[in-house]
Amino acid sequence: MNLQQRTQLTPTAKSTVLGAALVILLALGATAHAADCPRPGTLGTSRVLAVDPAQYPRVGTKSFPQTLPLNDKEIVLTFDDGPAATTSAVLKALRDECVHATFFMVGKGAHEMPAMVKRVAAEGHTIGHHTWSHRYLARIGFAAAKEEIDRGIDAENAALAGVPSRTRTAPFFRFPYFESTPELLNYIQSKHYAVFGADFWASDWEPMTPEVQLKLLIGRLEAIRKGILLLHDPRAQTAAMLPAFLRYLREHGYRVVHIVPAGSSTAAVKTDPIKQGGN
Ligand SMILES: [Zn+2]
Repeated sequence: MNLQQRTQLTPTAKSTVLGAALVILLALGATAHAADCPRPGTLGTSRVLAVDPAQYPRVGTKSFPQTLPLNDKEIVLTFDDGPAATTSAVLKALRDECVHATFFMVGKGAHEMPAMVKRVAAEGHTIGHHTWSHRYLARIGFAAAKEEIDRGIDAENAALAGVPSRTRTAPFFRFPYFESTPELLNYIQSKHYAVFGADFWASDWEPMTPEVQLKLLIGRLEAIRKGILLLHDPRAQTAAMLPAFLRYLREHGYRVVHIVPAGSSTAAVKTDPIKQGGN
């Protein structure tokens, strides 16, 4: 009985030890990888742009007359509608090229996946807001729309409870479907949040293969050459396309700009190492 127990337990114990070792190795690998940024041979974040909602209350030429002050071949990466299971693959692609993005999250998802929200923040990305449940805000009345906005912001902040303050969410908001009203725009402004539209996108809400999406996106990129790019991290086709797209940016002289809230400690913390790195 004892012997049998031992022979039965041994493989279990072995797999537990192996499992623990694997977790440690993965953790060490991830740490080493993150510590390697900025790293030669990667795209790298070229600069950090502090965005003050007072100066830039509404940006993105698809919806507004103004956009961010970007130079030729400078791109701001933004991802909407997460967190989702595919966010992991998106984070890996960004980490592999040492670039930072902004995630406009849906509160309901953030509430359901707080660990993923924490991970996005811990990996240095900016977290913006995209309402609680992604409704058409212009069609539900001001009071309901206001609740959608505020509940979403609260959910994203709640998901980050307990993390250092410099990794809190940003006062950046994007309307679902870019559908706003003058009253809601004023409401966001009164909260001292910046409203983000976009300058171009991959139309990744349409089903298509990663290859077709990459081709479409590169065509648009080459036409516009700079701006705020809208992608969706819950879309598997986008997660699959992203490594090749980032490689294209690197090989064609494009630069990724990371946006952070003006005056935040995030801006100070993130700007210094990048300046020292000389990227
Ligand atoms: Zn959306």
